[in-house]
Amino acid sequence: MSILEDIAAQQHEFVGWRHDLHANPGLGFEESFAAELVERKLREFGFDEVHAGIGGTGVVGVLHGQRPSNRTIGLRADMDALPIAEETGRPYASKVPGVMHACGHDGHTATLLATAWQLSRDRDFAGKVVFIFQPAEEGLGGALAMIEDGLLERFPCDRIYAYHNYPGVERDHIFTRSGRIMAGCSFFTIRIQGRGGHAALPHTTVDAAQVASNTVVTAQSIVARNLDPNEAGIVSFTDVYAGTNSHNVIPDKATMKGCLRYFDKTVGDLMKQRLEEVAKGIAGTYGAEAAIEFDDNFVPLINDADATAVALAAAVETVGADRVHDDVAPFTGSEDFAYMTERVPGNYVMVGAGPGAMPHNPAFDFNDEILPTAASYFCRLVRIELA
Ligand SMILES: [Zn+2]
Ligand SMILES: [Zn+2]
Repeated sequence: MSILEDIAAQQHEFVGWRHDLHANPGLGFEESFAAELVERKLREFGFDEVHAGIGGTGVVGVLHGQRPSNRTIGLRADMDALPIAEETGRPYASKVPGVMHACGHDGHTATLLATAWQLSRDRDFAGKVVFIFQPAEEGLGGALAMIEDGLLERFPCDRIYAYHNYPGVERDHIFTRSGRIMAGCSFFTIRIQGRGGHAALPHTTVDAAQVASNTVVTAQSIVARNLDPNEAGIVSFTDVYAGTNSHNVIPDKATMKGCLRYFDKTVGDLMKQRLEEVAKGIAGTYGAEAAIEFDDNFVPLINDADATAVALAAAVETVGADRVHDDVAPFTGSEDFAYMTERVPGNYVMVGAGPGAMPHNPAFDFNDEILPTAASYFCRLVRIELA
């Protein structure tokens, strides 16, 4: 029986786990249902080591191959859900009001469990596999929490791999690229302090709304005029607020929030420096003051060239060369796995999930049809890495 057939024969069971995970979602660092299910299953599969509570709700399982080797491969899945009220109408819809698996991390967790099941049944590989189930991928820093809790010292890996389901593109196609694949992201908050007053007496005020408006417009020149035209960057203002719900009061304060996206940390540093200069410079021009805070919540995700070559070989074995895409355009979204690949060479692939609602939409549901494909891909990856 092939790996894919072996997994497909068991699909109903894996899908059952996925639906249980879907019905019992947890926000970042609150994934107790998923963590307990993962821990229980890994013990059932006879794992050599199972460690819970790493970086909060993170779980790590270690599986030893039949043949000795010093080599270790890490496989990572995320377990957290989102603060969204589910509208799928599925029989296994979320039982937790206002919380749902709208990004498919329930599917990623079930996929890695299916991989663990298959590899534990047939340990014909040389070395160790570290299964990493991380909390809080959605911007709350679960990967760093595990790393700061000693993940990579306690379980050193030579290479590390992960995947994300990818709705809206053809099912069971696998997409990746060497080098940059997901963007880094820095949240920013700018606070303007002016001087309020009567709308009929503008000369007695320092208009915070005017400062904010000019800041939003001028900040776009950072990408247009400061970045190398061959580089990419995004400046998005997502919340701009000034005023007191009146028509005749010039506001003394304004607050602006948004995010910067970039594929290179030095580009990110330049964008942050320029945004601070723009905010403070424009405020100064009008006689106001600006303060800015940054929260760097994702680094760019860079795929290692050698790890990507292995990922592509495993992908071709799993779905055939005509369904493997080795030069997908980098995504401007971000991914917490980047903190792991910053420290250990690794690769991240997208597995096409076919038509359906996009992630973070209340109608989104993970496509169970891709679970055997993704699990089979991971199994082949391990068998190539640890041949
Ligand atoms: Zn997400
Ligand atoms: Zn996700």
